Amino acid sequence: MTDFNSEREKMVARQIAARGVKDPRVLQAMREVRREEFVDALRAHYAYDDGPLPIGKGQTISQPYIVAWMTELLQIGTDDIVLEIGTGCGYQTAVLARLAKHVYSMERIAELSQQAALNLARAGVTNVTLAVGDGYEGWPEHAPYPCIISAAAPTDVPEALTRQLAPGGRLVLPVGGRSFQEMVRVTKQPDDSLKREYLGNVAFVPLVHGIERR
Ligand code: SAH
Repeated sequence: MTDFNSEREKMVARQIAARGVKDPRVLQAMREVRREEFVDALRAHYAYDDGPLPIGKGQTISQPYIVAWMTELLQIGTDDIVLEIGTGCGYQTAVLARLAKHVYSMERIAELSQQAALNLARAGVTNVTLAVGDGYEGWPEHAPYPCIISAAAPTDVPEALTRQLAPGGRLVLPVGGRSFQEMVRVTKQPDDSLKREYLGNVAFVPLVHGIERR
């Protein structure tokens, strides 16, 4: 039997804190969410590996360090609501939900959204609302958001997402083409202008236009 609790402690120490993530609330959330419950049973033994894992439909759950780093960049307050683009298996959603008041999460592939709903229910996460939709459009009903995160890379920052950002709000996402992407944090200033920070090269699946048609 793998001792997943000790694997998780090691993951936080060696992959996340060692690479510079410092926010104690983020480190605690990473200690608490059981990543093995978000991947299929056959891959549970790889749940704490230092890399992405396949979750079906050609998509991947992000590397634990990347999840922690992006979460730290969002600077989520306990009263903040978060918009997440790319629910995938729901792992990042669960981490965000431990820090935020509520998480609205969109996914373009219905099958993944349904699986994420099961994963999150099993993990006892209740402060999330999932929807099948196109993240390029954002989710206007609940805007403006103090925090927006995308786990898939558009070629340019989508205008709908900066529009739905609250004054002072943070949008964290990879931006770029198939072969080269960069982590970007966009902060909306009090006068509505946008400040962009470029934070280094990353590798993500692309943000694809439209919901999956079957
Ligand atoms: N955070 C996820 C990572 C999933 S990978 C996890 O922890 O599992 C990125 C996800 O973004 C994929 O599931 C992909 O289907 C989804 N995606 C891609 N383009 C999208 C779009 N336009 N709108 C919503 N989701 C999108």
